[in-house]
Amino acid sequence: MRHFPIFLNVVERRVVVSGAGECAVSKLRLLLKTDANIVVIGADPVPQIRRWAKEGRLALIERRIEPADVAGAALVYGANDDEEEDARAAGIGRQAGALVNIVDNLNHSDFITPAIVDRDPVTVAIGTEGAAPVLARKIKADLEARLPASLGLLARIGQSFRHKAAMLPMGRKRRDFWSRYYSGEGDAALKEGGEHGAQAKLEELLTDSIETRPRDGHVSLIGTGPGDPELLTVKARRLIHEADVVLHDRLVPDAIIELARREAIIVEVGKTGYGPSWKQEDINALLVEHAANGAQVARLKSGDPGIFGRLDEELDALDEANISWDIVPGITAAAAAAASSGLSLTKRGRNSSIRFMTGRDVEGFAEHDWRDLAKSGSGAAIYMGVKAAAFLRGRLLIHGADAQTPVTIVENASRANQKTVSTTILALPDALAEAGITGPAVLLYGMAPRKALAVAAGVSPENIAEQAGAV
Ligand code: SAH
Repeated sequence: MRHFPIFLNVVERRVVVSGAGECAVSKLRLLLKTDANIVVIGADPVPQIRRWAKEGRLALIERRIEPADVAGAALVYGANDDEEEDARAAGIGRQAGALVNIVDNLNHSDFITPAIVDRDPVTVAIGTEGAAPVLARKIKADLEARLPASLGLLARIGQSFRHKAAMLPMGRKRRDFWSRYYSGEGDAALKEGGEHGAQAKLEELLTDSIETRPRDGHVSLIGTGPGDPELLTVKARRLIHEADVVLHDRLVPDAIIELARREAIIVEVGKTGYGPSWKQEDINALLVEHAANGAQVARLKSGDPGIFGRLDEELDALDEANISWDIVPGITAAAAAAASSGLSLTKRGRNSSIRFMTGRDVEGFAEHDWRDLAKSGSGAAIYMGVKAAAFLRGRLLIHGADAQTPVTIVENASRANQKTVSTTILALPDALAEAGITGPAVLLYGMAPRKALAVAAGVSPENIAEQAGAV
C-alpha cells in the first residue's frame, strides 16, 4: 500500500486550486462538498467557476499562483492542464508545507483523490493507486446501487442518538444495539415512519437492550480450511465476524483473520517446530479466561479442527471451566490436496479405505500399523510427514510395500503457491528435497495425480505413466 487512506478534516482550512479550466472543475465538484475555504487561482476562468465564485462558494483570483496565496493552506492542487505551471504550483505549495496533488500525475503528487460514494456522513472512498481507474469506477457504481440513498439520513439520526446509547455498557451490548439498528430494523422504520419512525425505533431497541441479560461467554472451535478463503464455510465466516476474541493458529491466513471486526482482540497462538511457540496449557487458559469474561471467542484452526488439531485438550479445559462451546467443521488439508490433484481419496479397485495419519507425534516420528498399510488397497493422507519421509519409506518398505507405490505430495494445497509433485515411496525423500518442499504439505500415499494435472504441475508425463502402472 503506497498510499495510506485517511479522512482529513478540512473545515475552515484553506484549499488552493491552481487552474480555473475544465480540469479544475471536476476537482472542485468534490471539494465543494466540504466546508473548506476554497481558493481558485487562474487567469481566464470557465463560466462554471465564475458562477460558483458569484454564489460565494469559493474565492476566485484571476492570475497565476504566487507564494502568498498558499500561506496556511492544507492542500494545493495543480489543475492547470499544463505541466510547467502545475510543477510551479506544486513547488509553491510544498514550500508552504501543504500536501500537493497534480491532477492525473500520480508520481508527482503527495496524495491522490479517491473515487467517492457519498452518503454523508457515510463516505466510501475507493482507490487503486492509479492502477485501474476503470475498476474504481465500477466498484463505485456497484456500491452506489447497493447503498440506499437513505443511508446518510439513517446515520445522522443514529449520530444524534449516540449520547443516549452511551448508557449501554461499552462492548457487546452496545454493539448489538447498533447492529440491530443498522441491519435492517432502522431502515425499515425510516421507510415506514420517516425520521420520527427511526427515532422511535432507536428508543424501542434501547429499552429492549437494557432489559435483556448479557450473553454468556462462548467458544466456537472453527475449522478454517486449507488456506483459500473461499473454502471457508458460511457459518465460520459469520462467527469470525461476530467474535470479540479471535485466537488462531499460525496456518490460518491473514485474509481469513481480516474478517474479524477491527475492535476484536486477535492473538496468534501458533505452535511451530521451530522458534517461539505457545504451550497447549497456555492456549487452554487463554480460551477459558476470555470466555469466562463473557467474550464470544472464535478459536480458529486450519483445516478441520478435529484432525490433528488437539481439539480434545481444549474441549476438556472448557468443560472443566463450565464454558459452552461448539465445533464448526472445516475442509481438511487432505481433501483440498486431493481435489487440486484431480484425485478421489477413495477409488473402487484401488483403495476402499483411507487413513489420516501423522508423521510425527509427541514422541517423535509416529509409529503405525505398517504391515496393514503396506498391503495393496490401502491409502493414506499423511500430515506432518515431510521431515519423517525417510522414516516412512523405511518402515513401509520393510513391511512389504511395493517400492513403486505412488505418492502425491501437495504443498500449500488450495493456496496461490500450491505445489504438486508426483513420486513413489522409494523416491519420496529425494523428491521432497529436490522440489524444495518447506511449507505445509500432505503426502497422499497410494495415489498418483491425474495425468493432465500432474503435467500442469511440472511433472514429466513419462514419470507419471510409469507410476500409473504401479497403482
Ligand atoms: N487440522 C488441520 C491439520 C493441522 S496439522 C487439517 O485438518 O488440515 C498441520 C499439518 O496439516 C501440516 O503439517 C500439513 O501436513 C497439513 N496442512 C495444513 N494445511 C495444509 C495445506 N494448505 N496444504 C497441505 N498441507 C496442509
